Amino acid sequence: MKRKVLLIYTGGTIGMEKDYETGSLRAFDFGNIFEKMPEMKLMECEVFVHPFAKPLDSSDMGPEEWKIIAHYIQKNYDQYDGFLVLHGTDTMSYTASALSFMLKGLKKPVILTGSQLPIGDLRTDAKENLLTSLYYASLYENDEAVIQEVAIYFEYKLLRGNRTLKYSAEYFDAYASPNYPILGQSGVHLNIIKENLHRDDSDVEFHVDDHISEDVLFWRIFPGMQLSHFKEIPTMKVLILQVFGSGTIFSSEKTRETLQEIRNNGTEIVVVSQCISGGISFGKYENSNIFSKIGAISGKDMTAESAITKAMHLIDNPNYQGSFADHFSKSLCGEISE
Ligand code: ASP
Repeated sequence: MKRKVLLIYTGGTIGMEKDYETGSLRAFDFGNIFEKMPEMKLMECEVFVHPFAKPLDSSDMGPEEWKIIAHYIQKNYDQYDGFLVLHGTDTMSYTASALSFMLKGLKKPVILTGSQLPIGDLRTDAKENLLTSLYYASLYENDEAVIQEVAIYFEYKLLRGNRTLKYSAEYFDAYASPNYPILGQSGVHLNIIKENLHRDDSDVEFHVDDHISEDVLFWRIFPGMQLSHFKEIPTMKVLILQVFGSGTIFSSEKTRETLQEIRNNGTEIVVVSQCISGGISFGKYENSNIFSKIGAISGKDMTAESAITKAMHLIDNPNYQGSFADHFSKSLCGEISE
């Protein structure tokens, strides 16, 4: 039986080609992808293409577009075996993280990919990324999807979406998953590392919870930073602080006072690390004790992208009863090590 994959094209470099007369990049009509890439017809799966009416640079993708994608997957969930989202690379990790929280009870593959060079470029990385992603999006064993989560496939690696970050604007190998091992790798053989795959053990039927609040702020702490600026900004529901190393910040009385004041206003404070790998460990250094004292939440080894979208999803979400801190600290879909 031929598996069916729904390809949702949102925009980004992958759908561009060079206009050889003017030398500039332009979006091509993705509905014609089969003419551009006849190789797609050789795939063992059937591919159905749904292009966004107006392809977007991924810097224009946000909560509205995440919801559109999530609902489109929901609408088509029963008709297709897997989903492939083609996306600009700049914010792909945010979209992958957000989707991982919004698609509840997911039992089918949702793969995101893009490319560093346009599909129409001679040296493009788009074709391999696209073809191998289709393979992963249609991979079944014993009538069960092998991948049952949101993943990013890029430059020979399959990664858990909510563990990724874009770390290179230059190299084809643009994504990293520093705190979680790869899910699969393509070489001569296309392999999957089954023990690394996520499984949702709940009995929850697939559905979309599209709650996303934009009342979240992210600040990176730096030496010499004037904390008084915090007092100039209006109150927000969640403040994510990206602090030094394993969770430290300058130890002045002013720091304690300012952060305490923010907490007293009812703002949740989440702490993530500026280090790409490793994470927060409250209590390891004296200069992290302030966070425990004010009741801040450790983002442990989450990426900034994942912490931001998880906070957006959880804050004021009527489907999550109980404390924000408790829900935030637990793994919803493999985004944090417990
Ligand atoms: N600016 C583009 C985007 O993110 C870059 C890319 O696709 O690689 O949409």
